Amino acid sequence: MHAPIALAPAVSAFLARGHGLLINGEWIAAADGATFTTFNPATGAPLAKVARANAADVDRAVAAAQAAFPAWAAIMPAERERIMRRFADRVNDQRTELAQLETLDNGKPYNVAFNVETNVAVGQLHYYAGWPTKLTGETYAVSSPGFHVYTRREPLGVCAAITPWNYSIVMAVQKIGPALACGNTLVLKPAEQTPLTALRLGELALEAGVPPGVLNIVTGFGDAGAALTRHPAVAKVAFTGSTEVGRAIMRAAADTLAHVSLELGGKSPLIIFADADLDAAAEAATWAIFANSGQNCVAGSRLFIERPVFERVLAGVAERAAALTVGPGLDPASMIGPLISAAQLERVQQYIAYGQRDGARLVVGGSRPGGALAAGYFLQPTILTDVADTAPLATEEIFGPVLAAFAFDSEAEVIARANASVFGLAAGVWTNHLARAHRMAAALRAGVVWINTYDWFDPAVPFGGVGQSGQGRELGRQVMDLYTELKSVWVRIGDSA
Ligand code: NAP
Ligand code: MG
Repeated sequence: MHAPIALAPAVSAFLARGHGLLINGEWIAAADGATFTTFNPATGAPLAKVARANAADVDRAVAAAQAAFPAWAAIMPAERERIMRRFADRVNDQRTELAQLETLDNGKPYNVAFNVETNVAVGQLHYYAGWPTKLTGETYAVSSPGFHVYTRREPLGVCAAITPWNYSIVMAVQKIGPALACGNTLVLKPAEQTPLTALRLGELALEAGVPPGVLNIVTGFGDAGAALTRHPAVAKVAFTGSTEVGRAIMRAAADTLAHVSLELGGKSPLIIFADADLDAAAEAATWAIFANSGQNCVAGSRLFIERPVFERVLAGVAERAAALTVGPGLDPASMIGPLISAAQLERVQQYIAYGQRDGARLVVGGSRPGGALAAGYFLQPTILTDVADTAPLATEEIFGPVLAAFAFDSEAEVIARANASVFGLAAGVWTNHLARAHRMAAALRAGVVWINTYDWFDPAVPFGGVGQSGQGRELGRQVMDLYTELKSVWVRIGDSA
């Protein structure tokens, strides 16, 4: 272990103080005074105490968002942009602090939290800040004379955002950004495992001049999320998380008919043809699954390798996996942090054990590092092969550093096997055959296909899943459809109508 990264004084101070709910611009205790503790997954040690919201708190937060809505919706677009740019700048100023909080609460290496996560978050916030002045309706050439017909794009009202723990900063701003840009107000419920960065974002939003009640934050558990999803005054629920909870949210929203958008799980195939740059492909396949300890919705968890190069590419990925330094996120040498919790670690280990019991062959990893790391939820990057296409290792989202590798013989075969999943979030294809690359891109059932690369995002490019990976597209101009309603206006302007 190298000398650990020193915590900024502001981070230590943040951890030491108690944390309330953000409702109407104020930090307040839960109505019943309940709190919960958030933990450091690298050590299992408690980090901070935060308020635990219940349904009464959710009511208060929604009421605050409702009260703040008319003024926020009416604010001039350029002024909304200015406020949002100040928020983005505040987040940029506080990147070190936010990244340290993310490393402590989530476990990921600090350099990833800083260089990837906070960087993406700031980029997204600036992107969304540009939208208030660019939201437009259309005019229509109707087939009856004497009318002027146009659409207005209007905000929905109170939106709810429910987010997961794997990229707690990006997941929050990916919903705060478009919701506020479109003139909505928001109640955010971050994951119970990683409440800290959302709370810090709330402080920064207030400092930037986001008016009270426009962004409310209720930390808590699934019951608080559930109360939000069935609240009659919530017009839209934006959810990122597991497919199972996504289903529960859709059911809950059936009563109020709130809009629902879902970014859910995946079991994404990464396909390597023999004609590809095999070293680059092996490198990409390694990071596609092991980045963020495999706790990545787009993790390339099924690796299909064309048979003539199967052993060679598999050995290349295994060698790289074995060389990844697993360790605490505050150790600058760490490339792979712990899993989020003891429960998640146990779940992932069960997949490996049951898989081996059913005949899978362990290529590399599979065990927990000992010594100084024994108290944290660490697991070595793991690769298994000889896995049946129908086995849980091949069909279920594990959300851990576990890769299943398969050999394939033809393009048609690998398309069928890659598509044989209830999920359809992402896919990767490695080939130097131009026509094949485009054939594959068209044939794969996924919301995003990466060709000779993997895991790229940009705020301008829509992202989302098909099938049980979700509904709706976040990012890009398309996300504005999720946070606005179109109104058609007919104006009689001629006598002949
Ligand atoms: P999760 O268990 O589904 O939780 C997500 C959020 O939902 C948390 O804030 C959770 O609160 C809340 N929640 C739980 N039960 C609820 C209910 N009945 N009603 C409303 N909200 C409820 O997911 P996770 O374990 O945090 O995250 C991992 C999952 O997220 C994976 O499946 C992954 O694929 C998916 N994910 C998808 C994307 C994407 O963009 N497609 C991105 C990242 C992650 P608690 O924290 O209290 O449980
Ligand atoms: Mg934590």
